[in-house]
Amino acid sequence: MNNALVQLSYLVATGLFIFALHWMNAPLTARKGVYAGVAAMVIAIGATWAQPEVVHHGWIVLAIIAGVAVGVPLSMVPLTAVPQRTALSHAFGGLAAGLVGTAKYYLWFSEGPQHLTTFRMVAIIVEIILGYLTFTGSLLAAGKLQEVKWIPQRPVTYPLQNVTNLGLLALAAVVGVALTLNPTAAWAPALFPVVILLALVFGVLLIIPIGGADMPTVIAILNSYAGLAAVAMGFVLDNKLLITAGALDGASGLILAIIMCKAMNRSFLNVLFGAFGQAQPVKTGGDQKIYREETIEGGAQVLEQANLVVIIPGYGMAVAQAQHKVRELYDQLKKRGVSVKFAIHPVAGRMPGHMNVLLAEADIPYTDLVEMDDINPDMPQCDVALVVGANDVVNPSARNEKTSPIYGMPIIDADKARTVFAIKRSKNPGFAGIDNELYFSDRTWMLFGDAKNVVGELVKQLSGSAVH
Ligand code: NDP
Repeated sequence: MNNALVQLSYLVATGLFIFALHWMNAPLTARKGVYAGVAAMVIAIGATWAQPEVVHHGWIVLAIIAGVAVGVPLSMVPLTAVPQRTALSHAFGGLAAGLVGTAKYYLWFSEGPQHLTTFRMVAIIVEIILGYLTFTGSLLAAGKLQEVKWIPQRPVTYPLQNVTNLGLLALAAVVGVALTLNPTAAWAPALFPVVILLALVFGVLLIIPIGGADMPTVIAILNSYAGLAAVAMGFVLDNKLLITAGALDGASGLILAIIMCKAMNRSFLNVLFGAFGQAQPVKTGGDQKIYREETIEGGAQVLEQANLVVIIPGYGMAVAQAQHKVRELYDQLKKRGVSVKFAIHPVAGRMPGHMNVLLAEADIPYTDLVEMDDINPDMPQCDVALVVGANDVVNPSARNEKTSPIYGMPIIDADKARTVFAIKRSKNPGFAGIDNELYFSDRTWMLFGDAKNVVGELVKQLSGSAVH
């Protein structure tokens, strides 16, 4: 393929990547976005493969087979495991960038000093530092999210932690500068692995103090590091598509992280250095808090007499895969003339859009999905708030308790509804590991059990009773 055609293919692929991201913004066009992304990737691989300097076709076929063997099972993980699956993809992306940078350095070193220009060395050093730290950081983040037994889930902190971490990164940068200034010195090839080692260790130390509800945000930040590593790789390989695709990847990771931080009222620095999610001291003394329970019959009766029911789904709905039962409940209530809305918190579940995807899968009309800021003014007029496996996103301590670790996080005002029914399996806290006052409020009634079973029982109860 001649160079003009390759560059044209890269341009088309870049355009498709941009449209893919744009279309994935809305549920109606998301499928088209996925197809555009796949088409862009196929064009990118095909055009790169067709370049005359690519001669080892066997290796490329082997790499594609290995990629498919790993990628297909990875694509089949449940939605609740998507954050850790995404972390694994970033780990592979970071490792690929790191390995390419390493190979290029040693190749150019052996081919002669004219190859190791200052520009290339800067790109290589940025590529390997970002690539290798993304590799170990993402692997550790995936392990934490998967709750691998031997990896501590809660933040691990020690004195002077941030100083040590930043010192290590600064050391890697100093060694990188030394290499950039003397890329062909006799000692340079021996010093190069030191940068790699420091970046690998930094990746681990960066993630160790982070835990709890901040982990999915960190995945998005690592996404942007992987994108930036790809940009640097694009400069090293002089490949324009890698530069544009990496920049899109980096920017989208950054935007996602900003959205998550905003929805949790946290800052970037706080996520990276705040050690959120440490075990909270158990409050002793005071009144024993009482949960009040409701029966399925009682719950169904109140629901069918309501004018407005707001269903607030959370991570528990995803775990229970209760969305189809929720749809049946929605149908039953609608049949009775009850107005039913879904209140969508931007970080309900484990990734932005998690609830939208599940509810779309159950064919619930998009028009009944209402964003947090739009539903909150209606909550005082709501007869029943039905909380389905949500916890932190309806915790009033985010509004009322200055000492709460989630203070300031915007929440869905379930506590303002006339009656609250909360479905969960136990008295355990949510992702942030803190108690929820909503469950002890005198307006709240617990419906303990697995969300799919409880909602299923409510549906049975309603479908058994007469329609008014
Ligand atoms: P939470 O993790 O706070 O709570 C989920 C609740 O679901 C738990 O209390 C659990 O209680 C219950 N549950 C679990 N399994 C079941 C089941 N099978 N049936 C019924 N209930 C079940 O979820 P939220 O959605 O309220 O909040 C999301 C959290 O994730 C927030 O802390 C948010 O900050 C964090 N987060 C989310 C991100 C995102 O993008 N979505 C990004 C970053 C962080 P029990 O065990 O008793 O059943």
